[in-house]
Amino acid sequence: MRIGLPRALLYFYFRPSLEYLDQENIAEILISSATNKRKLEQGLALCDEEVCLPVKVLMGHVHSLLEEVDALFVPRVISLEKKRYICPKFLGLPDMVRAGLGRKTPLIAPEINAGWSKSRQLREVAKSLRLLGVQPLKLWDALNRAEEVQKQHRRQLAVALDLPPAGKRVAVLGHAYNIFDEYLNFSILKKLSLLGMEPVTVGNFSRDQINQGACGLSKDLFWSYGRELVGAAFYCLNSRAVDGVILVASFGCGPDSLITEIIGRRFSDSPIPLMSIILDEHSSGIGLATRVEAFVDMLNWRDMA
Ligand code: SF4
Repeated sequence: MRIGLPRALLYFYFRPSLEYLDQENIAEILISSATNKRKLEQGLALCDEEVCLPVKVLMGHVHSLLEEVDALFVPRVISLEKKRYICPKFLGLPDMVRAGLGRKTPLIAPEINAGWSKSRQLREVAKSLRLLGVQPLKLWDALNRAEEVQKQHRRQLAVALDLPPAGKRVAVLGHAYNIFDEYLNFSILKKLSLLGMEPVTVGNFSRDQINQGACGLSKDLFWSYGRELVGAAFYCLNSRAVDGVILVASFGCGPDSLITEIIGRRFSDSPIPLMSIILDEHSSGIGLATRVEAFVDMLNWRDMA
């Protein structure tokens, strides 16, 4: 049985562990190819106007897999760490996919909730993978090893700020699905590197650095990814670890509109320049490149002043 995995949303956070599971041959997995115009247009056609851009992109990926797989993996994610939650869109994702694409292709949609005990989480995943005939113990082992691969990957990335910068350092802060989907963001990370900057992303901040930054909030945020963004941005402000910050948000995203406001206010009288970019389906690569180039020019001119 071939399982389709859309290269969208949480795929970009969990790529190391998902690729590890793919190699482990727990199941035959087909990951959709990179986002392109066709997938985006298909996603737009399947969603309501007001849905955020990344969910529209996911729908395009799901659609691209339909003819090639026997089932689709679209988990219902509630929480990834205790007492914190992720955006409610992830909770309703399997329902959105069913509403948009019908019930012809079965969905593997385990409920993922870090608030549950480990054994309950395993039972839930094992139940949803029953049709693959995977032994629960084998699955448990593979999931534990995949978790370790993910942690190891994070540890390797999180040393970046302790190393000497290769050029001016710019923190590009946003959800992984906006930052690492090159079609959506017009390759902003590559663009910055070509302009002589060293881009860093949220993954390059250690858990401690994020917690230190997030201490600056008057009230703790219960959104996992929103808190990471605010923590990383505030850490940049306090430590002066970067020369500039670019915030990348999605049009139609409720959490991003609040996070952008919280960060923007704190940076309003700071010496570290901040630029906000909102991605939507009408974004233009030329417009974005011009803004990035102007931002980089400004960082370079500050040294000459
Ligand atoms: S956090 Fe924002 S961009 Fe991400 S799924 Fe939720 S609404 Fe969409």
